[in-house]
Amino acid sequence: MITPLQMDLVAEELAIRWSDGTEQFISLEDLRKKCPCAWCEKNMIAAPQAQEHSPKPPLCKESYQILSIVPVGGYALQITWGDGHAAGIYSYDYLRKIRKN
Ligand SMILES: [Zn+2]
Repeated sequence: MITPLQMDLVAEELAIRWSDGTEQFISLEDLRKKCPCAWCEKNMIAAPQAQEHSPKPPLCKESYQILSIVPVGGYALQITWGDGHAAGIYSYDYLRKIRKN
C-alpha cells in the first residue's frame, strides 16, 4: 500500500509526498468539497438544480482551513476543518484519486 510519508500545508494547498515517490498538491477547497462523509455527500454533490431547493451548506472561509490531520487505522486521514467539521475520513486511495482541476 502507498502511504503518505510527509504532509505539508502550503498556502491554500495540502502537499502530500507518497511512499511511491510522487508528490501531490490538493487545494483545500477541493479537498473540503470532496469530503467523503455522508453529510457532505448528500449536501454538496447534489445536482445544482436540487441545491436551489435546499439550503446551501454553511461553508465559510474557515471551512477551507485545516486545523488538524490525524491518521486513522493506517489507511486514511481524518481532517478537522476550521469550522469544526471532522466527519470525513479520507482514505489514501480516495486522496490519490483527487486530481487538481
Ligand atoms: Zn463532510
